[in-house]
Amino acid sequence: MVVKCEVGGAVVEKEVVTESPGETYEYQAEVSRLMDLIVHSLYSHKEVFLRELVSNAKPSILGDAGELEIRVKTDPDNGTITITDSGIGMTKEELIDCLGTIAQSGTSKFLKALKENKEAGADNSLIGQFGVGFYSAFLVAQKVEVSTKSPKSDKQYVWESVADSSSYVIREETNPDKLLRRGTQITLFLRDDDKYEFSEATRILNLVKNYSQFVSFPIYVWQEKSRTIEVEEEEEPKESEEQPEGEKKKTKKTKTEKYWELANETKPIWMRNPKEVEKDQYNEFYKKAFNEFLDPLSYTHFTTEGEVEFRSILYIPGMAPLNNEDVVNPKTKNIRLYVKRVFISEDFDGELFPRYLSFVRGVVDSDDLPLNVSREILQESRIVRIMKKRLVRKAFDMIQDLSESENKEDYKKFWENFGKFIKLGCIEDSGNEDNTTSEIFLFQE
Ligand code: ADP
Repeated sequence: MVVKCEVGGAVVEKEVVTESPGETYEYQAEVSRLMDLIVHSLYSHKEVFLRELVSNAKPSILGDAGELEIRVKTDPDNGTITITDSGIGMTKEELIDCLGTIAQSGTSKFLKALKENKEAGADNSLIGQFGVGFYSAFLVAQKVEVSTKSPKSDKQYVWESVADSSSYVIREETNPDKLLRRGTQITLFLRDDDKYEFSEATRILNLVKNYSQFVSFPIYVWQEKSRTIEVEEEEEPKESEEQPEGEKKKTKKTKTEKYWELANETKPIWMRNPKEVEKDQYNEFYKKAFNEFLDPLSYTHFTTEGEVEFRSILYIPGMAPLNNEDVVNPKTKNIRLYVKRVFISEDFDGELFPRYLSFVRGVVDSDDLPLNVSREILQESRIVRIMKKRLVRKAFDMIQDLSESENKEDYKKFWENFGKFIKLGCIEDSGNEDNTTSEIFLFQE
């Protein structure tokens, strides 16, 4: 909007940004309940908000992930943190659907899990598993502003809400400085108690490094670092001082460097050299990829060469599957198959792993399979048969290592959790010459 105003006696026209008043919407009751819980009862692991907001950024269409990036910027003077992604964005309707309502069961399941897992130290870091991750923003923010542009809409919208409110406002974005080509910008106006901690650039950088190192798109974090440097300056010599003409004096100055720092390694963890990956990074990847909250008991990272080449990381979970009774269920999403880094499927029916090893979880990435690999191809492929053989062998090697490790507790846990799978294997695999019966017997109690 253009307004006329008087500056030094002259009338000038000036462009001013006016916010459209917007429309107020009531939260679904379930959201209000959750909000109340978040604002008044959850005090530990507040930093999970960052992981949740970062993992919500979505690429716009399949294959477009290359364009996705996230930028996180803190502003200690104003006590804000802003997370901007170049992802899919949201239309006005999607804003109402996604950020005003939650699946009915989300909150109650979350509450139940909170209660049950308190002892395991899981606490509110569980929040993302129940489809309510966005609201974790209110763990640290007294106000949240989401400005978002979907390629499906010409307009950019702002969703705004304060903690503890039963309603939110949606208005059109009118600030030209905030217009996005596409994607979402979330600004958290931090609570007084959290201002210092979460508007500090290095703290945020470390959190992103810790939580999101295995995210496959780049995450940049704004850094402002002060450095003291010595600069040479030409100075007028004072009358009393004898200084040869033209000599420069060195003075110390503080310089602030401002830059975007890439916080994560965008190469998938299984493509990296195992010598360069820390145990914590394997564990973090496991928890993220398989929605687990306990560290795995063990893992193995390997590359096979020769007839069939693939890379894989396999894990033995830290706890028995929740449907532990259902040992024979062949349809567990335990292995994620990638072809040339592109995710293909996690729905297998024994093609990649025998069902008695379905408790082992992991990723497998092959360059030798076609990208459009179908179930039929999987079932008939010689390559897949060889892969399966190698995977089984590696799983057994991992179990063997666990049995020989100094930490006897872990192997005991393994037997408690997965003993019945191994016993099933002894029955299932006998007579199956393709497999490793004799090895299974080694692992009997
Ligand atoms: P979940 O991600 O588990 O569904 P959330 O509460 O974290 O639950 O988010 C709700 C929904 O809001 C998401 O499913 C997604 O559709 C939408 N959403 C949130 N943040 C973004 C974002 N940055 N870009 C696109 N969509 C988003």
